Amino acid sequence: MLTIRSRCWLCRQPLRLAQHGICSYCLRQLPMPPPCCPCCGLPAGDTRYPCGRCLQKTPPWQRLVFVADYVSPLSRLIKQLKFQRRPELAPLLARLLLLRWLHLRREQYLNRPEMILTVPLQKMRRWRRGYNQSELLAAPLARWLGCEYRPQALRRIRATAAQQRLTARQRKRNLRGAFRCEDNLAGRHVVLLDDVVTTGSTAAEIAALLQAQGVASLQIWCICRTL
Ligand SMILES: [Zn+2]
Ligand SMILES: [Zn+2]
Repeated sequence: MLTIRSRCWLCRQPLRLAQHGICSYCLRQLPMPPPCCPCCGLPAGDTRYPCGRCLQKTPPWQRLVFVADYVSPLSRLIKQLKFQRRPELAPLLARLLLLRWLHLRREQYLNRPEMILTVPLQKMRRWRRGYNQSELLAAPLARWLGCEYRPQALRRIRATAAQQRLTARQRKRNLRGAFRCEDNLAGRHVVLLDDVVTTGSTAAEIAALLQAQGVASLQIWCICRTL
């Protein structure tokens, strides 16, 4: 008997490798991102060099790696992971990110991270959900890449309003001083992982903290980047 978990999450066909979560057909059908700036991840003519926006105002990180735009079916899987208590989707999404990173690493130079950090959830939200989706993504990635995962390195030191309905400027103000870094990360090659990057204000707020610590390099990894 096939259990539900040995079927593809998208087309429900039986899987040869249950741990992949998605069949090779659906994997090929996933939307590919358009050519993007390696730094901010927004559509750009050249995928090798930072775009004009990044040259004018350099983001506080070196690279942004993502699987696809925030569109179906990935957006649906992320919503299930976050809001419908489907933590079992995390390894599948983490694997898509790993495949993307390996692909980019072949094309362009990318540091192998020494350490993965995750954006901490607000206590109440974490308690209600029962888990932090980013932690579930980070743990298998750290295992596959042979690097460290430090779930406690970043801490939220004050509650913030939900970001969804705020403008970019309001988001920035909302997050100012909301996080603290509890570890010494000087000289380390670090990845900051979040499930979705929208305006990048959360990533930027934490990245500034990490840069102030003197990290050697910083990559932002996410499953989806809204384009
Ligand atoms: Zn499938
Ligand atoms: Zn850019």
